[in-house]
Amino acid sequence: MITCSPLYLIYAELFRKVNYMIKFKNISKIYDNGAVALDNINLEIEDGEFVFIVGKSGAGKSTFLKLIMREESASSGELWVNDLDLTKMPKRKIPNLRRSMGIVFQDFRLIDKMTVFDNIAFAMRVTGCSEKLVNIRVPYMLELVDLLDKKNCLPNELSGGEQQRVGLARALINNPKLIIADEPTGNIDKNMSEDIMMLLKEINKHGTTVLIVTHNNEMVDRFGERVITIYDGKITSDEKVTPKNNKSKGTVPFKNQQKIKKGSNKVNIINQSDIST
Ligand code: ADP
Repeated sequence: MITCSPLYLIYAELFRKVNYMIKFKNISKIYDNGAVALDNINLEIEDGEFVFIVGKSGAGKSTFLKLIMREESASSGELWVNDLDLTKMPKRKIPNLRRSMGIVFQDFRLIDKMTVFDNIAFAMRVTGCSEKLVNIRVPYMLELVDLLDKKNCLPNELSGGEQQRVGLARALINNPKLIIADEPTGNIDKNMSEDIMMLLKEINKHGTTVLIVTHNNEMVDRFGERVITIYDGKITSDEKVTPKNNKSKGTVPFKNQQKIKKGSNKVNIINQSDIST
């Protein structure tokens, strides 16, 4: 029988290849009015992690996300996202950076005059995808979030939970390696929040890094893994939390969620090599 010596385990840990999705090195952000939103942040988030960012209002959470999305630039320090050095990134490359992420907003940010289908398709069309691919992937994604029957509706004909599912489908449509969700359950009811969280968890299981900013302590307790607390621009705790009382853990929220297939580091919604574009 082969046994692992402690020395072997130490070597294995030392040589474990770690890929970081996000790396903050001595990052500070001071706004023009002098407000110190982030104060010397050092943080690493590995590829494939599921992370909550929590903290009271004014703590610096939105600034943290804005730096990752390059909506704001750091005042000092180094910031890496998906192997890209954001502190040196020229402006013209920012749209490409954002397209490599799936972003879910608290207020959904759907385009009012576009149907559900077109809201999701739009995210593909701006990347230059063919209509053939759009017409395959959008219905597939709508089925995944259980909204295929609403594809011709306008956003104002949907409930909050449905709008957030459209937002989630749009965030996932380009198979991002990183999903950023800013209070994704802030404007929807408890049951739908749970479904959204479970879908995010399932997506993460297949390799996508998920970063969620939230005030919802109950959700953090139920779904938490790594929880990072920001207070007055500083990280005051960074811990692994064991999910509590998550009765529905491991079940499938939307009826078509089983369509998420294992892929390399992404939600392999459709095997693109099977489709000639
Ligand atoms: P949170 O998202 O946790 O509520 P923010 O990142 O929005 O926190 O804000 C952190 C601090 O930075 C606060 O003191 C806030 O007033 C300040 N701040 C945020 N955005 C700006 C801005 N555009 N200009 C000046 N100060 C800002």
